[in-house]
This record gives sequence, structure tokens and C-alpha cells, in this order.
Amino acid sequence: MKILVTGGCGFIGTNFILYILKKYKDYKIINLDKLTYAGNPENLKAIENDPRYKFIKGDICDKELVNKLMQEVDAVIHFAAESHVDRSILNADEFIKTNVLGTKVLLDAALNNNKKRFHHISTDEVYGSIKEGKFRETTPYNPKSPYAASKAEADQLVKSYYKTYGLPITISNCSNNYGPYQFPEKLIPLFVTNLIEGKKLPIYGQGTNVRDWIHVDDHNEAVDLIFHKGKIGETYCIGGNCELKNLEITKLILEEFNLEEDQIEFVKDRKGHDFRYAIDFTKINKELGWSPKHNFEEGLKTTIQWYKENEEWWKPLKSKVIPNITRKQNG
Ligand code: NAD
Repeated sequence: MKILVTGGCGFIGTNFILYILKKYKDYKIINLDKLTYAGNPENLKAIENDPRYKFIKGDICDKELVNKLMQEVDAVIHFAAESHVDRSILNADEFIKTNVLGTKVLLDAALNNNKKRFHHISTDEVYGSIKEGKFRETTPYNPKSPYAASKAEADQLVKSYYKTYGLPITISNCSNNYGPYQFPEKLIPLFVTNLIEGKKLPIYGQGTNVRDWIHVDDHNEAVDLIFHKGKIGETYCIGGNCELKNLEITKLILEEFNLEEDQIEFVKDRKGHDFRYAIDFTKINKELGWSPKHNFEEGLKTTIQWYKENEEWWKPLKSKVIPNITRKQNG
């Protein structure tokens, strides 16, 4: 099996490539990544000489390149995206280009090269915000941020290529990931690295917004299962069974550093801030036997430890964090 992974130098893609090459000794991966501010080729330095791995610096919007790479592979797993909600609120141009047009370029290339197997990585944010109950695969889309809208549009395009052309697709919509290699603009790595640097923790509003958290390895295990055993044309919701208020997470992080709540700084709320996300993952559990394995408090501890031990990884990235819009509290 030879897989084209897009966005493999980002947070989830990096962890996915490491996971797949460790698990499947005969698989090969081509990683196509544009290396935006969020992409870091250093993440995969350990495997750069592995003959099963090839890195191509390039844009998923580049039709010629994507078409050429598609001829070399059996399947696509599509992670590449602009992923930070706050940046999308400032300017959505790149979100539409990469998340919508880039996905279309990949779909066309997969279609025109013998209908390659296509797995699309998406987010629970396409469903909007929910006060009670949980999102499931049948929940109507109701995106609130330009990021979520661009992912929703991409999902619909992917579905349309199945319905119109019979392209063998699957989609997964996952909740908030945490773990190593996450860019330090997102809530957990931002707060952890801020504390290491002796800085305050800026929380939107009163910190009452609720997110469902999943360890990135649990997400990737689910993607692996869907890719190999999922039903073609179907969507699967993936969740961590771990709903927490942003303030609760912050307190857990502070506890790990033996610091008090006076490190918290409440700041003006994000525009259109979704109140709560919650995922019902019954479908993937029943059909594929998947459920998340990581306990959040344990996973948080090891993640904090990783950031403590890898300052040389995140320190240079912090200069790329946009001040005052530095939290990704909804995704
Ligand atoms: P990330 O921002 O860390 O990484 C994105 C990667 O895509 C980077 O390496 C970047 O260089 C690359 N990229 C961006 N534009 C590109 C382009 N035009 N061509 C090629 N490469 C490009 O993102 P992430 O957190 O790893 O998220 C990966 C995927 O998972 C995204 O599709 C995101 O929507 C989805 N997702 C993320 C979460 C989360 O909590 N992080 C949750 C659910 C779903």
C-alpha cells in the first residue's frame, strides 16, 4: 500500500505518519506539505532516510503536482488544511483556497487516476454548537466560523464525489485533539508553553465553553480503522468521551505546574464563539469496535512532559503565534 498523506508536517499528520510506518512495515508514504507556518519538516527528521517515506514540498492546490503524485499511490489520506479558527476570523482567504479548492484538486486527481481510495479528515466544528445532546453523523451542518464553513464545504464536496462519480470516499469528523507536535497557538500547547516561559494564560470570556478532547493517537487509530475497514461513502464521528470547560482544562494544567489561578487572564470573547461541542461516537464503536483508549489526565501529563522536554521544537514557533488571538478554544 502506498498512501499520499497531505499535511503530514502538521500536528495530526505528523503523528499519523509515525503511527502508520511503525504499524505497517510494508506501507509507503508520500507526504505532500506546503510548509505553511504550521508545517514543520523537523517533526519527521527521524524517518527522513526511511526508504518507505518521501517528502514533497508542495501545495495541494497545484493540479499538475497533485495529479503526478496521485499516479504513484493507491490511496489518499487528506489532513492538509488551514486549521486555526482565530486566523480564519482575521482573514479567510487561505482557508477557502486550501480547505475548499485544495480538496477539490485532490478529489479530481483521485477521480481521474482510477478512482483512488480517499479518506478526508474533518472536524466536529462543521456541526456548530450544541447546548444539549451530542453531534452524530446525521446532525445537520451549521458551521459558525469561516474555518468551520470551509471544512463543511470540503466535506460536502467529498460526499458529492461519492454520490456523483462513485469515488470511494470516507470522512471522519473529530473533536479537539491534543498531544505532541501541536502548534503552540492551540489551547493546550499555548498554555503549557506560556507557563514554561512564565507568561499568563489568556482565556476567552469566562472559560465556560465546553470542548470534547481526544488524544491524537486515539484519533489516528480511528482513522486507520476507517481507512481500512470503514464503509465506502460513509461519515464517522470520532470523539474522546471527555467534555471539559476551558477553565477546567486550564486548572488541570496549572495543577501540573503547581501554580495558582492568578496566572489566568480573562480576555474578550472570540467572535461567534461556539459554546459546546460533544460527539456521539456510537457508529464507529458499533461498526468498527473503536473507542478512545487514553485517559485525559494521563495524556495531559505526558503531553506537558513532551513540551517540557522539547523546548527547541516549540521555542522558534512561538514567534509565529499571533498575539491576542492566540487561543484555539474551539478546535
Ligand atoms: P495543522 O495546522 O497543525 O497542520 C496543517 C498542515 O497542513 C501543515 O503542515 C501545513 O503546512 C499543511 N498545509 C496547509 N496548507 C497546505 C496546502 N495548501 N498544501 C499542502 N499542505 C498544506 O493542522 P492539524 O491540527 O494537524 O489538523 C489536520 C487536519 O485535521 C485538518 O484538516 C483539521 O481540519 C483536522 N482536524 C483537526 C483537529 C484538531 O484538534 N487539531 C480536530 C479535528 C479535525
